[in-house]
Amino acid sequence: MEMTLTTIIATGLGLAVGSFLNVVIYRLPIMAKRNALKNALPHIKELHEEVNLDPNFDLSKPFNLNVPRSACPICNHQITAIENVPVLSWLVLSGKCRGCKSPISTRYPFVEIVNAIAWGTMAIIYYNQTYLLILNCLLTSTFICIMITKLDGQEIHKFLIFQFLFLSALQLVHMLSQLAFVAKIMGIG
Ligand SMILES: [Zn+2]
Repeated sequence: MEMTLTTIIATGLGLAVGSFLNVVIYRLPIMAKRNALKNALPHIKELHEEVNLDPNFDLSKPFNLNVPRSACPICNHQITAIENVPVLSWLVLSGKCRGCKSPISTRYPFVEIVNAIAWGTMAIIYYNQTYLLILNCLLTSTFICIMITKLDGQEIHKFLIFQFLFLSALQLVHMLSQLAFVAKIMGIG
C-alpha cells in the first residue's frame, strides 16, 4: 500500500533525522563553548601573565580609585603631592620618575591639558549658564576617559558608559526643553 509505504519511509527518516537532531542539540552548545574558550585562551594567558607580574592584581590588597597611592610602575616609588601637580610636576621632573628616572608618559600632561582646554572653552560658551557648564564639563571629561581608555586598548568600565549615557540624556532633555521654548516664542507650540 502506497500510503503505508510513505508513512513507513517518513517515520524512518524522521527517526534518523531525530537522531541527528539529538546530536545537534547536544553538540552545538558545546561547540559554541569550545569556540568561546578558544577565543578567550590568549586573553587568559595574557591575564595570567599580568596577574603574576603586576602587584595591582594582588587580590589580598585593596585597589580602587583611592588606594593604593600612585606609584611608579617600574620602581614602585610613591608619587608625593609635590610630584603630582598637573603638568608642572611633569615639566619640573623632565618627564622622568624621581626614583628611577624612567620616562613618565606624555599622556599624563596631555590629558590634563586637553581637559583644561575643554573646561575653559565650556566656561566661555556657558559662562552664564551654570547647569549647562557643569553638565558639559562632566560630559567632555567622561568622553576623554572613554577615548583614552579605548586608545589604550583597555576595556571601558560600564560606569563610564552609564555616566556618559546619563549625562547625554540630561543634555538631550535640556535641548528639547529649549526647542519647546523657542517653538512657544514663535507661536508654534
Ligand atoms: Zn620609578
